[in-house]
Amino acid sequence: MSKYTAESHYDFMNDLVRRNPGQIEFHQAVYEVTKPIFDYIQDKPAYHEYRIMRRITEPDRVMSFRVCWENDAGEVCVNRGWRVQNNNAIGPYKGGLRFHPSVNESILKFLAFEQTFKNSLTGLPMGGGKGGSDFDPKGKSDHEVMRFCQAFMTELYRHIGDDIDVPAGDIGVGAREIGYMFGQWKRITRRHNGVFTGKGLEYGGSLLRPEATGYGATYFMQSMLAHRQDGIEKKICLVSGSGNVAQFAVEKIVQLGGKVVTLSDSDGFIYDPAGITLEKLEWVKDLKNERRGRIAEYVDHFSGSEYIPGLRPWRVPCHLAFPCATQNEILLEDAKMLLANGCIGVSEGANMPTVIEGIDAFLAAKILFGPGKAANAGGVAVSGLEMSQNSAKMSWKEEDLQRLLFDIMTGIHTSCVEYGRTEDPRFIDYVRGANVGGFVKVADAMLAYGVV
Ligand code: NDP
Repeated sequence: MSKYTAESHYDFMNDLVRRNPGQIEFHQAVYEVTKPIFDYIQDKPAYHEYRIMRRITEPDRVMSFRVCWENDAGEVCVNRGWRVQNNNAIGPYKGGLRFHPSVNESILKFLAFEQTFKNSLTGLPMGGGKGGSDFDPKGKSDHEVMRFCQAFMTELYRHIGDDIDVPAGDIGVGAREIGYMFGQWKRITRRHNGVFTGKGLEYGGSLLRPEATGYGATYFMQSMLAHRQDGIEKKICLVSGSGNVAQFAVEKIVQLGGKVVTLSDSDGFIYDPAGITLEKLEWVKDLKNERRGRIAEYVDHFSGSEYIPGLRPWRVPCHLAFPCATQNEILLEDAKMLLANGCIGVSEGANMPTVIEGIDAFLAAKILFGPGKAANAGGVAVSGLEMSQNSAKMSWKEEDLQRLLFDIMTGIHTSCVEYGRTEDPRFIDYVRGANVGGFVKVADAMLAYGVV
């Protein structure tokens, strides 16, 4: 048995920063997740003895590879691809692929690390991974995207498998990209199986997968409010982003009687004081998913709305906020503005959209704050259900999936409440609840395996 040495969180973080120089997003994610876990494990020597924190923050492996493809002008383009396999203690690696020029190893390590805890919280047998490329699908033709996806999969295929590592979509990777990548996987391996989730319904996808993350983030907010005998009805809501997660968050909020007044993209945001109705949302879905336009175009179609370039929506007074675009989109000054304007709840549809200082401000104000690993776990939960359907060679009905998604989200909420109770009976620290709740199962599985 190894010698027992209890490490402080301060020493642990210093060592992690030294071993991962310059990876600031990874440092940020590890700091946020491990701080409450260190409090939790301080009187639990086995976790220290087996160096669980050190092992859980060192990915099982990180693959990086060249992706070479030709654009429509016949020029050779070179991008970099990655797959981070963080931890498979409780199931095959599982997590999306992101195509965006900002993608780098630090961002993918943070996402794969967070994914490990999120997947554990769902209660389904899935480990944590993430991957992607610095390729930018914006402005590319369908044929260019297809050639890139095929080149990317020609390397990635050797690292994945339905019981090894199961990728899905993320920013810049939607139905079109998944179709191209799964097609190339099928061509190379001659297999048709559940190696990908988020697939089209025609070739093994699950009903409700596109809706799951946005719906789930809304259900999580509903559960947090219900815990305080409140609800979404009549609440003014801010949503950022206008992609997959944002669109279905708006849909569910509106169905539950809330009023959504903003949407955004990386160029700016729109403010519609009359509220984004389901009809207006259909127009946005067509704009973003079919015509691949910019959110600024909204104001040309819906009178009374305005476009604010270069800014995020958080200055608009609201009751509830749903950041659904990207990481670090709520800075400390945004958090302060939300609080000053009367915001009582934040449910993170995106991954790590709030900076650490912003989270601290929300927790100090004791508002309802649902961190991404709990609030946006609905997507990976339905991905897990897609894996089960593929294994069983069956497709489940939408109403069954709706019920399962709702049950999983309320189960995650219950788990957060169990580990997130504080001295103030009215206040649940969902950050602590989600981190500790996600950690326990993974850590106990790692203990069971011994030193591997
Ligand atoms: P999409 O690509 O469909 O949409 C992303 C949206 O965010 C777009 O409106 C995009 O605008 C905007 N955006 C991207 N980068 C930035 C930036 N740097 N600044 C401001 N806005 C930006 O992605 P998803 O909706 O799938 O994902 C959104 C978030 O949710 C991500 O954090 C993702 O990791 C997380 N998530 C997604 C899940 C899923 O099932 N899809 C599951 C769990 C989490 P633009 O068009 O200008 O780039």
